[in-house]
Amino acid sequence: MQDVSELNTIETDVLIVGGGPAGTSTALGLLAYSDLKVTLIERSELNHTRIGEHVSPSLFEILDYLKLNADKIKTEFATPSYGTAMAWGSERVFSMNGIYTTETATYQLDRTNFDFELLKAVAEQGGIILPRTELVEHSFDGTHWKIVLKHAERGLIHIKTRFLVDASGRSGGLSKRIGIQQERKDKLVGVGAFFQLKKGVHPEKYQFIESTMDGWWYRSILPGRLMGMTFFTDSDLASSLRLSNRQAWFDHLSKTQHLKKELEQYVASASEIWTRQAHSQITSFSDTSNFIVVGDAATSFDPVSSMGIGFAMSSGCSAARAIRKALNENDSDAITTYENDLQRQFDAYWTQRQAIYAREQRWSGEVFWERRREYDI
Ligand SMILES: Cc1cc2nc3c(=O)[nH]c(=O)nc-3n(C[C@H](O)[C@H](O)[C@H](O)COP(=O)(O)OP(=O)(O)OC[C@H]3O[C@@H](n4cnc5c(N)ncnc54)[C@H](O)[C@@H]3O)c2cc1C
Repeated sequence: MQDVSELNTIETDVLIVGGGPAGTSTALGLLAYSDLKVTLIERSELNHTRIGEHVSPSLFEILDYLKLNADKIKTEFATPSYGTAMAWGSERVFSMNGIYTTETATYQLDRTNFDFELLKAVAEQGGIILPRTELVEHSFDGTHWKIVLKHAERGLIHIKTRFLVDASGRSGGLSKRIGIQQERKDKLVGVGAFFQLKKGVHPEKYQFIESTMDGWWYRSILPGRLMGMTFFTDSDLASSLRLSNRQAWFDHLSKTQHLKKELEQYVASASEIWTRQAHSQITSFSDTSNFIVVGDAATSFDPVSSMGIGFAMSSGCSAARAIRKALNENDSDAITTYENDLQRQFDAYWTQRQAIYAREQRWSGEVFWERRREYDI
């Protein structure tokens, strides 16, 4: 492996911006099936807290494809879950293994350590990883991107790369920087907090979803005896309900029928209240040469689908295949074919999303649900 710890000029074949599941899967898909040189930058510390953890077992097939030890990762970073309990469409609670999946079991990932394990694998397989690094300048000369990076300790690093990958997550920061706009379909956000389980109480093994007048609550079980409680609603509704205010958020939770009782098992003090974007969107990028977008930056889904992580990784594998074809086989259609595949997957997702929201008719006159009947804003 090349020692780049002192270099301030790097030449690579593929530069990936973003070290989440999409970025690392793209890197691993390149390293496992080609001789292309891969460099990945991540703006944060590599082991920062990540949100989103409920996955279907098909994720482990992707790990196999990426030539990782899927059994080890399953044992160390995933806990089997009994699926999802839902009060959606009526007060009655019903169970399903996953809303979108017919799989017989689902899993809860230890997200921080899972993502870190993928980053470690990229480094072990010869990829260069630069944490605490951001892209500050870019230009394209017809065959290469010339990129200037800013590393927290090393200062400016110059990179010459044949291909550039946006794996920067839902914000799609890199795409925006080079002038590509995402098509946003809604303005869903998640406003949540973490709670610690009380001593002596055994953690639940299933997620719980409860719909309400203005959106829906999601209780997730996390490693370290933690629970995540998140309210999903539109950003304007979150503002008018003042959900970033701790008291207002708790007051809103206290109006639920089922989930307010679940809190009894947890110590009262919650983490700070955080807000995350959770909107659905799709990005068109194939008009830009030597450039591809993966994961949430390319196509992001409503968390009701539990589709994010699995999709991020499978899109990374497909993108790696398209890059290999473009760079090694001069296949000029590879990136467009990849983009068309994403569009097809998004269209199928959108139809299913409509069907899920249509199952809840109790508040059909309320803004949140009305918008989901129109299915566009
Ligand atoms: C509240 C909530 C709950 C969710 N629950 C689930 C769930 O239960 N199951 C599921 O499958 N999915 C869930 N998701 C979705 C899931 O988290 C995402 O789909 C998944 O993380 C996408 O992976 P990614 O690699 O595309 O993006 P991310 O995981 O967002 O990774 C992007 C990375 O890029 C880095 N980055 C960003 N900009 C730059 C830059 N300019 N330079 C360098 N680095 C940069 C970021 O620091 C980050 O590490 C949830 C999402 C939300 C908001």
